[in-house]
Parts: sequence; C-alpha cells; structure tokens
Amino acid sequence: MSALFTTHTANLPRQYQLGQFEKHLWALFDEYKVINYQNADGSDYQGAQAFNLGGRSVFWGGFIPRMTWWELEAWPEEVRWALEDVAYAQAEDLMYWPPAPAPYQTQVKSWLNQTWADYAHFDAPMAVRQLNDARGTLAPGLFSTADLLTEGRISTDPGGLGKCTVNLNHAVTGLQVDPSGRVTSVEATDLIAARVRRYQGKYVVLAAGTVESAKLAQLSGLKDPYGLVGKGITDHPVLFTHFSIPPGKQWHRPDASSKTLSRHRSASATSHPYNVLLELGADLNQGRYLDPDTLKRHRALKGDTMLCEIVFLFNAPLVEANWVKQQGPSYVKPQIFMQKSPAADPFWGEVNALKDQIIGALGGEPLEGGSLALNAGALGGVAHEVGTLRLGPEGQGVVDMNLKFRGHDNLFVCDLSVFPTSPAANPSLTLTALALRLAQHIETLP
Ligand SMILES: Cc1cc2nc3c(=O)[nH]c(=O)nc-3n(C[C@H](O)[C@H](O)[C@H](O)COP(=O)(O)OP(=O)(O)OC[C@H]3O[C@@H](n4cnc5c(N)ncnc54)[C@H](O)[C@@H]3O)c2cc1C
Repeated sequence: MSALFTTHTANLPRQYQLGQFEKHLWALFDEYKVINYQNADGSDYQGAQAFNLGGRSVFWGGFIPRMTWWELEAWPEEVRWALEDVAYAQAEDLMYWPPAPAPYQTQVKSWLNQTWADYAHFDAPMAVRQLNDARGTLAPGLFSTADLLTEGRISTDPGGLGKCTVNLNHAVTGLQVDPSGRVTSVEATDLIAARVRRYQGKYVVLAAGTVESAKLAQLSGLKDPYGLVGKGITDHPVLFTHFSIPPGKQWHRPDASSKTLSRHRSASATSHPYNVLLELGADLNQGRYLDPDTLKRHRALKGDTMLCEIVFLFNAPLVEANWVKQQGPSYVKPQIFMQKSPAADPFWGEVNALKDQIIGALGGEPLEGGSLALNAGALGGVAHEVGTLRLGPEGQGVVDMNLKFRGHDNLFVCDLSVFPTSPAANPSLTLTALALRLAQHIETLP
C-alpha cells in the first residue's frame, strides 16, 4: 500500500461536475479502487479495495451512526456492553466534533418529527471535524485514518502515534505460525525494492479488510476448526433514490442543506429494521465550492433546484451461503461468491410508501432523465461488506470477545471481517470503537 493521499479526498481540491447530482467526496474512489477478486458463477459482489494508507477511509462519506440495541442484540453481550458503555463515546470523541446544526436542518428535523411521529429524527452524525470554538483550533476536516497516522508520525510528539512505523509499499503475503499457534513473523513483499521481508512483533493485528484478511488467513493456514474463515461475507441491503425540490416549494432553499437520520420508534430486528438518511441539498452537503462564482454557475445550471437523496439502510444477518476462497499463492485473486441478503424484501413496500410520502410532501420531482423508483445499492458498493472472520462465542466465532484469533495466542483481527452481522448503521463508528477497545486490551497484555 502506498500513501496515495495523506488526507481524506474531501479535504483536497475537487473536480466538480457543474449542474449535476454527484457524490463529490466519493468521486475519486472509482479512479483509485482495485478489483482484487474474481466473482464465482452467480456471484453479484461489486466491491473493491483501496490499497493505500488509510484504506477506504480516505474515500468514505463520514456518516457515523451508532448501532441501536436491537442491531447489537445478535452480538455477544460482553462486546455490546463495552460498545454502549464506553467505546462508542470514545470513538465519537476521536472522529466527530459536532457542529451546531444549521437553522434549515433544525426546521426540517422539527417538520419531520411532527409529520412522521412514528419515527425519531436526528441530525445525521458526521465524522467531520467542524469549527469548534471550545477547542480553540481550526477545523481539520473530514476524518480519515491516513490523516491520523500521518500527523502522528510526522509530529514531534514522541508518545502515541509518534512511535509508530509505517512501511509503505509492502504487500503482506502471509503469516508464519509455529506449532503452538503463535505467529512468529509476517511476510511482506517490498514492492519498490522487489524483495521479501519478514517482520516480527509480540502481537500481530490483522486489519486488511473483509476480503483481504480472509485471504491472508487462508493463505497462512490459520486455524479454522468450525469452518467459518471466509464464510458469510455479507453487505446489508441499501435502497435509495435521488430527487430534486424545485423553486417555489415550501422546503426549497437554493443555498441551504440538511442531513437527517430517522429510525422507527418501535424498530426491532423483525420490524422496521432500517435507518433512513434524508439529504436535502445533498450537493451542498457533499460539496465544497471554494469559488463563489463556481457555486453560482452550479446553481444556475440546475435551475436553482435542490438536489436530494433518500436512503434506507437495513440490518442483515450474515448470509451463510456466501464465501471468500483463496486458492493458490498470494498473487492469485481470491474467489468470491456473494448474493444479496433477503433482509429488506419484506419491508420493500413499507419503505417505498414512506419514500413516496416524504418526496410528495416535499414537492420533490425526478432528476432529469431519472425516476423516483427505489434503486438497490450494488453489493459492496460502499465497502460495508462484513463477516469473513466473525466475532462470536466458542464454536460460533473465528475471533473471541477480545478479537483474538482462536488458536493463535498473539494474533488479533480488527476490520469489518469481525462483524457477526451487517448492521443498519454504517459500520465505521463501530469499527473505530472496536479498534480503540482492542488497543486498550493489548496495552494490558504482558
Ligand atoms: C465511497 C465510500 C463511501 C463510504 N461511506 C461510509 C460512510 O459514510 N460511513 C461509514 O461508516 N462507512 C463508509 N464507507 C465504508 C468504510 O470506508 C469502510 O467500511 C471501512 O474503511 C472498512 O475498513 P476496513 O479496515 O475493514 O478496510 P479498509 O479501509 O479497506 O482497510 C484495509 C487496509 O488494509 C490494507 N491491505 C489490504 N491487503 C493488504 C496486504 N495484503 N498487505 C498490506 N496491506 C493490505 C489496505 O491497503 C487498507 O489500508 C464508505 C466507503 C466508500 C468506499
């Protein structure tokens, strides 16, 4: 992996598509993503890797909801309590300096609360470090691991991240394990010097992502007594549509935006098991027009309409028939078999009706050449695939409650592969919370 960008791409100059609906801050992912797998017959996976410092966190959208109690119900109790008691709050402290919501967003939220009282409506939590007078510093922008590691590494602070070493342009190809199960070294190819190196450490954390970590586990012959390594790769169903609000409608504001999260008040794993994300003026939410003239032209080109989006994200158990399999050496791409989770199917009519009501009440219209129909997000399209090294009790999990790989005393896993379900909540806050908890656990080890 290289240091492709040492900050989130949203913090860099952007290439705008004036007048069009576009996900500005995700735009570069398509250019830099790597398709490092082959789909087996019948597989619908469309995900990709980002082989760079910070991984896919330099391209992500920064939406960081917590998992609710009912999404966590399928997770081991010890981990649930750790997340709810401490780890979520610590992750939010790290990623999020909440801004005061803009007046337009507050008005939209209160209208949603009055009109759809069965749902609770919140400001969408975003991992954007906004201006925060209390800290007395300038806002550093959208959170990414690349920013965190780079700043830690180049600072003069000798503690914490200042102590870490980052070996760029190395591809890990396997872990060497002694007969007792201890990992004795990690083998990597230095892609610049074209030579193989071995690294040793007291503890090793595998964090290569759902696909690559399963690949490395299989390449290294790690223990798999329950046949769970690589099994169950799942991405939750995501249904969405785009629309516009033309001038003259009650909620039309050409220069404002709002991003809210809604959850049904009696949601559970079996009823209303989804989050709703509503973005009004989504192009401004995602955009960063430094030149006011550019923004003026953008508005004029779209006829001063507001570009908007509604998204339904579902909770899903792992799909046990799905798998990742590595056959052959590390240069061979792993095979993936992945089909969609049926978790959204019983609720399609419900969310379609809610979408129609909300867009109707907003006076929304289809975008030019589009329709208001719900679309299904591509499987793995925004890197929410989970589950190949799942967390669970003995017999049901590859890793234990401390994310330790069973059968390997000094090996831990910390990426989306450990998720035992694909939650409605976008996964990164939960992953950060798990990472902070793991770091604290490793500090207590001899
Ligand atoms: C466009 C987009 C929008 C998103 N929006 C959101 C959002 O709003 N909210 C949210 O919660 N999530 C979002 N996500 C998802 C989020 O970014 C991912 O879920 C998260 O980054 C996954 O973390 P990970 O550690 O499992 O994998 P990754 O981030 O992929 O990290 C894996 C790391 O391992 C390295 N690696 C892999 N294999 C090897 C190897 N063999 N040797 C050495 N290094 C290796 C990679 O270079 C990478 O640095 C989005 C993702 C994308 C792409």
